[in-house]
Amino acid sequence: MRIDIMTLFPQMCEAVMSESIIGRARNTGKVEINFHQIRDFAINKHNQVDDTPYGGGAGMLMMPQPIYDCFMKICDETQERPHLIYMSPCGKTLNQERVKELSEMENVAILCGRYEGVDQRVIDEIVDEEISIGDYVVTGGEMPAMILADAISRMLPGVLSEPEGFMGESHYSSLLEYPQYTKPPVWHDMEVPPVLASGHHANIKKWQRERAIERTLERRPELLENAELSKKEKQFLEELKNNKAAK
Ligand code: SAM
Repeated sequence: MRIDIMTLFPQMCEAVMSESIIGRARNTGKVEINFHQIRDFAINKHNQVDDTPYGGGAGMLMMPQPIYDCFMKICDETQERPHLIYMSPCGKTLNQERVKELSEMENVAILCGRYEGVDQRVIDEIVDEEISIGDYVVTGGEMPAMILADAISRMLPGVLSEPEGFMGESHYSSLLEYPQYTKPPVWHDMEVPPVLASGHHANIKKWQRERAIERTLERRPELLENAELSKKEKQFLEELKNNKAAK
């Protein structure tokens, strides 16, 4: 898969995406991630990419032409027009389901806004989708784009050391992940739950699923509507709800 990121701060992005799992995935060709300096496509004397908004208001807006030309160059390179996402607080909030769908595409491009955002006309002309990382505003689209590119990349085959390592994780199957423990077996008088050291695979699995259901009910009950639960797990959930109501 190829991901192209359009930004005014390619070095910032490169630094983040060169480390650890994503850095290794790029080095071994599991994912290709390229950064494009939007300013290189400015056509004025001072390489200006922003200007004041019509109608007034605070701050500056990114001009449409450098973004458009930058995307056209990416389209030339990829041959197939990439699916273009604009990172924006006005977009639909990102979730694991959308990450999975995007990870199945061949070419994705991401536009990072700065200042007060981007001229609407270039959004209307080339953007396929706007994605938000949550109901708050950060100073630029670079960190949101890194989050999206990271989340997509780790779903690609061979990126995580354990194949399908993400399947038990929070949000993959609409459940939050169960609590986890490592050594030592006792720390600050707190013991690791004995079942986890029992070696009994079925009991461990059951314990983990039940704790995941419990935690999801406690913290994000709305997720349970889409969770795939066995008949026994549904009974377990009903008992939990009844106990909660009785308290
Ligand atoms: N004036 C814009 C608004 O109120 O919607 C916010 C602009 S923000 C300061 C600058 C850029 O940061 C945006 O163009 C966008 O690319 C990025 N950004 C900020 N918050 C974001 C969020 N929650 N999700 C995705 N991108 C975000």
